[in-house]
Amino acid sequence: MAKSIDLSGKVALVTGGTRGIGRAIAEVLKEAGATVYITGTNEEKTKQVAEEIGVNGVKMNVCDREEVKKVVAEIAKKERKIDILINNAGITRDTLFMRMKDEDWDAVIETNLTGIYNVTRQVVPIMMKKRTGSIVNISSVVGFTGNPGQVNYSSTKAALVGFTKSLAKEVASRGIRVNAVAPGYITTDMTQKIPEKVKEALIKSIPMRREGEPSEVADTVLFLVSDMASYITGTTIHVNGGLF
Ligand code: NDP
Repeated sequence: MAKSIDLSGKVALVTGGTRGIGRAIAEVLKEAGATVYITGTNEEKTKQVAEEIGVNGVKMNVCDREEVKKVVAEIAKKERKIDILINNAGITRDTLFMRMKDEDWDAVIETNLTGIYNVTRQVVPIMMKKRTGSIVNISSVVGFTGNPGQVNYSSTKAALVGFTKSLAKEVASRGIRVNAVAPGYITTDMTQKIPEKVKEALIKSIPMRREGEPSEVADTVLFLVSDMASYITGTTIHVNGGLF
């Protein structure tokens, strides 16, 4: 008989779950039976989306260390644990390097890299106490290939791979697995910003000749956090239609 994924009794925290890939991840984790918390930077919007998909919603800006500490502690107090962490929140500030402003560099590093440190730093001790946990960091194909106009963004997405590999080695003996998923071009608000002409050229370069859907990334995350991936840690799974 085919195996199925059952996350009943598990508690999951998904950063940036208000739309796009994060929302799709929250939906599949919930469908698999987990108690899910999504976060976003706007309280009202986060609560509204959480209600729509039947999960818990909390305002937590990943750049705000104090807020992260407070929110993670509140969830852990209420649920007595956090089994699954999906570091999904991310932003772009695309521009050619010669035109890049310090603010474009700082905002992307602070959100996509330091933000992941901020949240993971609070969650790992909670997982360690229970000697179990699964963390998935959302990287990107451009962290592997590079992309003009994305020196800041691709730097963070490549850095996440080092973060994933090193942390995986540190916490493996405590029953915690750490992996990354590197999506290619996925239909979300983030890719809607790409000009139509550029998008056409991009799609031509994808062997499967289409953008991916958020649910296709979410299903890979679901596999990684499940027992089906119980011997997988420190790795990156690419979800990109053959692009890389
Ligand atoms: P979206 O722009 O659609 O959504 C981004 C999410 O991140 C929103 O929920 C947003 O919440 C949240 N967010 C942004 N900044 C913060 C912050 N400071 N604190 C907390 N939450 C924040 O992006 P996608 O769904 O497309 O991307 C999700 C992840 O996947 C990102 O890490 C992205 O880099 C990565 N990715 C996306 C690809 C794509 O093609 N779409 C390809 C490869 C990787 P809020 O409601 O507050 O705005």
